[in-house]
Amino acid sequence: MKAEAKSELYRKIPAVDEVLRDPALADLIARDGQAAVTDAARSVLTRLREEISLDRLNSDGVDLALSGIVDVIERQLRQSLGYSLRPVINATGVILHTNLGRAPLSSVALDHIRDSSITYSNLEFDAAGGKRGRRDVHVDRLFRKMLDLGDARKDVTTIVVNNNAAAVLLALNTLAEGSEVIVSRGELVEIGGSFRIPDVMSKSNALLREVGTTNRTRISDYERAITEKTSLLLRVHRSNFEITGFTEQPALEEMVKLSRSRNIPLMEDLGSGSLVDLSTLGIRGEPSVVDSLRIGVDVVSYSGDKLLGGPQAGLISGRSDLVARMRANSLFRALRVDKLTYAALEATLLAYVKQDHDSIPLLRMMRLPGSEIERRAKAVVSQLRPGDVMLEIVDGGSLVGGGSAPSAILPTRLLAIFAKNLSADEITERLRNFEPPVIARVEEGRVLLDLRTVFPEQDELVLAALQHLSANSKTNLQNRSSN
Ligand SMILES: *Cc1c(COP(=O)(O)O)cnc(C)c1O
Repeated sequence: MKAEAKSELYRKIPAVDEVLRDPALADLIARDGQAAVTDAARSVLTRLREEISLDRLNSDGVDLALSGIVDVIERQLRQSLGYSLRPVINATGVILHTNLGRAPLSSVALDHIRDSSITYSNLEFDAAGGKRGRRDVHVDRLFRKMLDLGDARKDVTTIVVNNNAAAVLLALNTLAEGSEVIVSRGELVEIGGSFRIPDVMSKSNALLREVGTTNRTRISDYERAITEKTSLLLRVHRSNFEITGFTEQPALEEMVKLSRSRNIPLMEDLGSGSLVDLSTLGIRGEPSVVDSLRIGVDVVSYSGDKLLGGPQAGLISGRSDLVARMRANSLFRALRVDKLTYAALEATLLAYVKQDHDSIPLLRMMRLPGSEIERRAKAVVSQLRPGDVMLEIVDGGSLVGGGSAPSAILPTRLLAIFAKNLSADEITERLRNFEPPVIARVEEGRVLLDLRTVFPEQDELVLAALQHLSANSKTNLQNRSSN
């Protein structure tokens, strides 16, 4: 386009002040404020100018855009003043999905967060005694109940930090700063989101002493590596991978025996750390916190938002004398959590104590029988209006995820989606762009929805998303070219 013609177009674009005088914007200004509306108007006008500079608008196009400018400003406002963090529907079947926020919180946890945080609380105040209190007490009492080991180990204390990575950092720094920690080469893991044992070790100022090989480490390897510089034996749960075939790893009992005979504490980074026995669900190799402590591990660390099903947190449970040292470390002050986390954790733990397991979404999803998932899947199939989308119910597996045993797979029934004119990528993209976004799983080119991780009250939204897909699949090509 000629420069002259272009400047003609630019001249049509009104100044921000002029746009703001439009009486149609008065309601928006009253609702969202002058500053936000001005901001929105400015960015809409800037976009218009950009379109002109890219030769994407002719004179009629500019007139058309200006005639609908109030609507565009309103849409812009809604986007910029809306929340960025918002719900999505997890239909992947991965129960602990780190990108989707790991464990959903229970409604009792939310109620407790609200009730105790919307006003002042006794977070660090002993109301009866009128003295300063400690924030730990609110959850330590419940952990003591959950981790009751009988007379043998009455001294288990639990402290809370920001996440398990912080828990490992604090424990290593407290127990092994400037000295050696013995770890098997088969356990030098990296967990998603760049948590690597060797890196955390060096940040904690502890010295890593690797023993054994990737696939085989014997108790004698640990034994031989112990010197006067050794201050900790560390066991790390492999979490997101398995070593199979020609493998060997000492039993935890052997590690305990060695640690006691040499008087060197044994710590276990459990990663997930379940508070209940998961073997009844067919999940094996996922040690519970109680199991490890009962066998005699001195200190365990685990996440609050993995198999515990609570808020993001790192828990350290173990021998009171060792945990007390961690509490006294100035790092603990830097890594401590706020009242919201304590409230969510307290409510979650209380549900365990009351054995109200179904109130914890994670446990409810894990315990959901395949027959129930199939019943809901069938309901979706039967309600979908005939169109270009077809559903089929197929067998599959839900993943526990979140760095729990990779073999932790629960049998499920999946909805397989077939749509005329749409590829698997196009289907998942459209589901993601639905409001709320529906996140599916693709396996061998098939788009699958697992209702195990969908809340029953969200089934209707899944149906609506599929309906939307069905209604729009034919116009796919036209949509593409007009976009
Ligand atoms: C998940 C995991 C971590 C990290 O826990 P966050 O709570 O995500 O910080 C550390 N160690 C192991 C073995 C894990 O599985």
